[in-house]
Amino acid sequence: MGRLITLADGRRVEVQCLSCAITSGLVEPTGGVIKETEHFHVHQDVAYPIPGLVILASKRHFYCMDELTVGEMHEYIELVHKIREVQRKTLGIEKVYYFYNEDTTHHFHLWMVPRYEWMYEFGHSVESLRPVLLYARNNLNTEENMSKVIQAIDKLRQGLKELK
Ligand SMILES: [Zn+2]
Repeated sequence: MGRLITLADGRRVEVQCLSCAITSGLVEPTGGVIKETEHFHVHQDVAYPIPGLVILASKRHFYCMDELTVGEMHEYIELVHKIREVQRKTLGIEKVYYFYNEDTTHHFHLWMVPRYEWMYEFGHSVESLRPVLLYARNNLNTEENMSKVIQAIDKLRQGLKELK
């Protein structure tokens, strides 16, 4: 049995593993692919319309950090570093929260959640994460904000291309 998932742009899809569906190209992420490497796939989070909220997902289906191969391990840290650099350079993002859980229903993926001023109303650190995401999903699905999300995706894609 798959799970029904609502994407940030309102599409609803039923999938076994959303990460597999996105990294294989079955489901087109909001705004398209930001970057693809041999082992990884970078895209906007499809559920929460926050500009610069990037997901770095493995292409291979696994869950735990100690399951990364040596090749994946090296590519992973290099990509985290590059994405972070481009978030700062092109979007002016000063701080990022990283979130990754091994008991996910999708497979291995890291959330890179930018911190914006408005988020501090929901507190700091881990306790603010869920309220921030829910607020975004329920209140930021506007045409104006979605165009900011798409612009951010384009800037990240371009920035990563220029970094090589
Ligand atoms: Zn998967």
